[in-house]
Amino acid sequence: MQFILLSSLLSFSILFSVAKADLPTRNSAIQDNSLKHNTIIIYSGHNTIPSHVRVREGWQTRLTESKPENEKIDVYEEYLDDIRLKITEDFDNPFINLWHKKYEHIKIDMIVTVGPAADNLLNRHPELFAGVPYYSMSVAGINKNNRQFGNEIFKIIEVVPHLLPDTEHLVIVMESKNYHTNYHDNLFGQIEEVKTLLPEKMSVEIYSDFSFDELYERARHLPEKTAILYFPTSVDRLGQRKIPFEVLQKLTKITTVPIFVHDDTYLNLNVVGGYIRNLKEEGDIIGRLILGLDIPRTDEAYDKKVRGYFFNEQALKRWHIPEKNLPPDSIITNRKESFFYIYRWYVGAAILLLLAVLAELGLIVKLIKSLRQRKKMEQELAQERNLLEIRVAERTNELEESRILFQDAASVAKLGVFNYNLITDELSWDDSMFVIYGIDSKKHKSIYQAWRKITLSEDVAKLKNALQFAITENTAFDTRFRIRHPDGKIRTIHALGQIYREANGNPLRVVGINQDITKREEAEAIIRNLAYYDPLTQLANRRLLAERLKQSISSSRRENKKFAVMMMDLDKFKAVNDTLGHAAGDELLQQVAQRIKTHLREYDTVARLGGDEFVVALEDIHCPKDVARVANTLIKTLTEPFILTQSDNVQIGTSIGISFFPQHGEDADELIDKADAALYQAKHNGRGCFTYYFDKDAIKPLGFNTVFCAGCVESSSG
Ligand code: GH3
Ligand code: MG
Repeated sequence: MQFILLSSLLSFSILFSVAKADLPTRNSAIQDNSLKHNTIIIYSGHNTIPSHVRVREGWQTRLTESKPENEKIDVYEEYLDDIRLKITEDFDNPFINLWHKKYEHIKIDMIVTVGPAADNLLNRHPELFAGVPYYSMSVAGINKNNRQFGNEIFKIIEVVPHLLPDTEHLVIVMESKNYHTNYHDNLFGQIEEVKTLLPEKMSVEIYSDFSFDELYERARHLPEKTAILYFPTSVDRLGQRKIPFEVLQKLTKITTVPIFVHDDTYLNLNVVGGYIRNLKEEGDIIGRLILGLDIPRTDEAYDKKVRGYFFNEQALKRWHIPEKNLPPDSIITNRKESFFYIYRWYVGAAILLLLAVLAELGLIVKLIKSLRQRKKMEQELAQERNLLEIRVAERTNELEESRILFQDAASVAKLGVFNYNLITDELSWDDSMFVIYGIDSKKHKSIYQAWRKITLSEDVAKLKNALQFAITENTAFDTRFRIRHPDGKIRTIHALGQIYREANGNPLRVVGINQDITKREEAEAIIRNLAYYDPLTQLANRRLLAERLKQSISSSRRENKKFAVMMMDLDKFKAVNDTLGHAAGDELLQQVAQRIKTHLREYDTVARLGGDEFVVALEDIHCPKDVARVANTLIKTLTEPFILTQSDNVQIGTSIGISFFPQHGEDADELIDKADAALYQAKHNGRGCFTYYFDKDAIKPLGFNTVFCAGCVESSSG
């Protein structure tokens, strides 16, 4: 901190000393382009003061870069280590004595003073290094005059309304003019000039005759829209001394107004910035002087080289000064880049890395997911496969069972499959067909020929008709035909098939099944027989008799014909049963049936009503005589002995009752009833005779004469 104080004091004090340093004899050397082998640089402060360090860096860099190899150059550096504005002899003497001795035998080519203390000391002692070219490096620059410095002040003041257009007051803070009379007079003159170029509303005030307390108090209560231009202040009007850096630091803390400065050592404080010296560049100029190189000769060139606008980025932000409003070539200092900006490459790289890792992770997760999914799918597939296999096995079993069942059923039902080509007459069969037809599959070259041979010729035509019907009507082929089985029996085959056609609709083949329905037909016949025939005698039963009588009634009515109903009951039949047994009775009944049938015409109906009762219906009767003749014949034939298994001389007889259509009834029941009534009469009359029905309650007894023809008899016996 001490060094900063010294530096600041140096910077400011030199303003005063510049005029004295600007002596004609000493300044003439600025045009001297010769190489200086021995140069003394006298610094006002300590060798660690940052401003001195930068000056030293400047000339040393220049020497390192540009010194001719064969030249020996010595630079002697002296540091006054302290600074007092009104330095006394006590301060000067030790240095004078030291340097007299030190440089007694050295030919010094050039003296350079850095800072006001060194400059002042030499000015106080012109006899020291007399005649040696002398350069002073101060706030105004190497050997620049007050006028030039004034231009720099102007440059700072000028920029304020430009950057902060709302500013109405500019307070220039500097040390009391008690200490710098000449300088202040000069500066005041400059400022008065500058004022005319500033906006009217902006007042400029030099604030210098203050005690430090007064300065701070003032700073605390500055009105808004005020800006400060601070010059290093190390002593107040009371003679109190302070480090200018600390004074500025305190000011920045107690005031809220923007502060402009002229020294780059202050840029780190919370100040806006200003038109500032580049001390390393000034050091470079010292280096150039040592080497006898060209240095910028015009103020403008010089200023461009070693002066410039510097601004503190944080302050710019605080007072909302856009960077685009800064003077050209301004240098922004204290850029506090955001963490992300400073480490943007690292952050970018980290983000990329993170993304890569995430992508990788994503891929891995995806991979794991897809692996899991695959595993799951495989498991599901395996499960499904197992289920499928189980189902297939079940199905196979079912099919096998079905096949066996079907085979059984086929063999039971005698079903066979055929495939008949309608165009080529080619016929193919499955194994069952050969079984049905009783044909050895190996013995026949042509199945069709074998089939044709075995099928009854009269049924082939019928079968072909059925096939043609199915083709033209587009229906199923369904027919029955008979075959002569190799065992000699006639069998009935039921054929059922479907017609298959070509794309153009032409019939191509019949595929279907054959079934041996012989047994079924037989069963059907038995059933049919049971329904209409008497199982013992194979004569018509009561139901068939009723139907036949119905038919006879309608046809007789239609054709105006007559018919007779004869009701017969065997005489003394029970005795046969009783003596020879029921079977003999049955046998007798069967023989009775045969004998009756023998004496009748084909179209006459014989029926057995049950027991030993028989009915005969005689069609187309012209005369009762005809009926009487038949009745007598039947009576006679049944009286003749029968030869039975158990007895070859069985004798019975029969009684007959007769009714006529239409005389005795309109329907079958009535006719049978009437015949039964006549039968009752015949039994009553002594059996072995016949009787016509006779209604004794009728007004006119029904006589056959009246009914038929003359000569008919009413009854007959034996
Ligand atoms: P009638 O001279 O009065 O006719 O007397 P009948 O001995 O012939 O006896 P009737 O006609 O009254 O009875 C007929 C008998 O025939 C009665 C019964 O035992 C017997 N009968 C009935 N149905 C059958 C049969 O199917 N087979 C045998 N063997 N006998 C039968
Ligand atoms: Mg009887």
